[in-house]
Amino acid sequence: MALGLPSRLPGTPAIGELIRGAAPTFSFEFFPPKTPEGERLLWQAIRELESLRPDFVSITYGAGGTTRDTTVAVTERVAAETTLLPMAHLTAIDHSIAELRNVIGRLAGAGIRNVLAVRGDPPGDPMGEWVQHPMGVLYAADLVRLVKEAGDFSVGVAAFPYKHPRSPDIETDTTNFIRKCRAGADFAVTQMFFDADDYLRLRDRVVAAGGDTPIVPGVMPVTRMATIERSTQLSGAPFPPALRSRFERVAGDEAAVRELGIEVCAEMCARLIDEGVPGVHFITLNRSTATREVWQLLAPGVGAAAA
Ligand code: FAD
Repeated sequence: MALGLPSRLPGTPAIGELIRGAAPTFSFEFFPPKTPEGERLLWQAIRELESLRPDFVSITYGAGGTTRDTTVAVTERVAAETTLLPMAHLTAIDHSIAELRNVIGRLAGAGIRNVLAVRGDPPGDPMGEWVQHPMGVLYAADLVRLVKEAGDFSVGVAAFPYKHPRSPDIETDTTNFIRKCRAGADFAVTQMFFDADDYLRLRDRVVAAGGDTPIVPGVMPVTRMATIERSTQLSGAPFPPALRSRFERVAGDEAAVRELGIEVCAEMCARLIDEGVPGVHFITLNRSTATREVWQLLAPGVGAAAA
């Protein structure tokens, strides 16, 4: 309890506990806006998705500068002004331990008890040299320890179905993932992927290596052909070829691409739920429509009632 933070506030659930519950959780991810128009769109999306009553929402941590303050401010506002349970992402890059403790203390002060601890990438070039802050930490595992030592936080970490691009091989990636979980992570959320089998392979290899941390799949529907072209950048792997062919057949028709993207994402989520995933985390890109449409295909009662 280095920061002397209070125990978890009554009524502030720990996401790690929700994820270990009987039913899969549903959650939405937003990013900190950079402009007033971006802020308007974010709050419109938050308000529209609030009615679906997700188990929690998360706000990513900016790559640097003012968007980092925006992350904390948006998370605080979600906690104060909505019925949603917020989780703040936090990254280690370019922060001293004192600065990290300061952010953690601000989150605690706003009653936020859920943090996704990730290492972060060098701004501008994600695969550029990762330079440790002279007074900072080196790996996400160190950040997990820091957050856990600071108070009664429920902490999540990142998982990579296709391995992290900096990991030399799948085995090393799995070993380092389990090391990060054993540093105190309560749950993990994956990078987006487009084939349920890729998630299932990740889950199997973690279990085979002795890991028992629940891993929530992160998903995002394809709404434009450009998402497919950016697949390697977004997910870490080329878009699955068989699925690509289905999209290529309708590539000239924007509405048909979108419709297929929603259908395919809902199919994948349904399969993942059948496979017993602990939750599904939707990457919204601060828009509500595509997420709502997938949700409605998955849970017509919930979606229709909320519409
Ligand atoms: P780590 O777990 O530290 O792993 C990074 C690399 O180091 C891996 O190759 C790992 O195998 C290796 N490694 C780990 N431990 C050791 C060790 N002891 N010895 C040797 N090698 C080791 N980025 C943002 O900027 N903001 C966000 O909000 C954000 N949210 C994200 C949410 C999710 C769900 C995901 C999947 C990613 C997110 N990212 C975010 C991106 C993330 O910061 C990058 O992918 C980053 O490169 C990896 O972070 P990590 O926490 O997995 O790092």
